[in-house]
Amino acid sequence: MSNETISRRTLIKGALVGLAAVPAAALANPQAAKPAAPAAPAAGGLLDPASPQAKALGYVHDANKVDPKANPMHKAGQFCHNCVQWTAAADAPQGPCNLFPGKVVKGGGWCKVWALKPGAKLG
Ligand code: SF4
Repeated sequence: MSNETISRRTLIKGALVGLAAVPAAALANPQAAKPAAPAAPAAGGLLDPASPQAKALGYVHDANKVDPKANPMHKAGQFCHNCVQWTAAADAPQGPCNLFPGKVVKGGGWCKVWALKPGAKLG
């Protein structure tokens, strides 16, 4: 057996060991074998307060401009960002609302079905 043959045999063994190690590594960490997850679908555009759905619930982008006569139930400190239907981070400027799928609302917005999110505070 020549040195060249041994060298070729060693090379082939090393390659086989290397190929076997890749699936073993993937089994040890299944996330490593998966392609990157696609980004979450982006929410749609900003809800238009003039849209029929928004008007039906009295949605406004700025809760400080709620008409008190038309909405006597509105209290200071009620905003979309502290509403139970808000699904974004409390400090997000805008985010999804369960009542308006495919749209985002303003964190400072408000509508007639506002309800305090558990653990949130007014303001
Ligand atoms: S349900 Fe809550 S988060 Fe959605 S628009 Fe009305 S006040 Fe804002």
